[in-house]
Amino acid sequence: MKEFAVIGLGRFGISLSQTLAGLGYSVLAIDRSEELVQQISDTVSHAVVADATEEEALKALGIRNFDVVIVAIGQDMQASILTTIILKDIGIKMVVAKALNELHGKVLEKIGADKVVYPERDMAIRLAHGLTASNVLDYMELNSEYSVEEVVVPEKMIGKTLGHLNLRAKCGITIIAVKKQSGLLVPGPGADTVFESGDIAIVIGNRRGLKHLEEQ
Ligand code: ATP
Repeated sequence: MKEFAVIGLGRFGISLSQTLAGLGYSVLAIDRSEELVQQISDTVSHAVVADATEEEALKALGIRNFDVVIVAIGQDMQASILTTIILKDIGIKMVVAKALNELHGKVLEKIGADKVVYPERDMAIRLAHGLTASNVLDYMELNSEYSVEEVVVPEKMIGKTLGHLNLRAKCGITIIAVKKQSGLLVPGPGADTVFESGDIAIVIGNRRGLKHLEEQ
């Protein structure tokens, strides 16, 4: 089972650590603030006070043995960048770093972060889509053009088969799965799948195609 280390226990780092621990994973939570470490110590496997910009301190914690290390330090960009460099130097295969803005993200990528996340920007984008399109339940941007959306199947499409709707040819979107009201998930639905009232479609497509679906 993967082992995770989370460095920086701000709101993001705490939520991430506790969610991973709740999913049954071993989590080492690190912060330079003793108060924050104490606060989280009951809910994760290990919580320690350390300054992550000190290479020796990280090594002493056995950070090398972790599969994934998440740098959740935000405001202190210098510390976030230094920590990421040290982790890559030590040889951590997967370093995920949180960026505050595009420039911070670019620097993190350049110094070797394997994945850069922008939690505030991404949450704002998801929320905006959820607020503006009433039938969109969730949204994940894949790149500047393609996204995956969870959409309440529009009234117009109820009772029709996917073959008849022909959404891929008509608007370039693909239904990956259909969630039934009962909770049943139908992955990779075929052309003979009929949409029923209350169905939720998980679709992948470009902006134009998804907008077309949202406006049905
Ligand atoms: P959030 O939005 O998730 O609340 P944030 O982006 O405001 O967080 P900060 O509060 O700046 O991020 O940093 C998160 C945590 O990282 C803080 O609790 C801080 O103590 C810790 N931190 C900052 N620098 C270091 C460091 N060098 N070593 C260990 N922890 C650090």
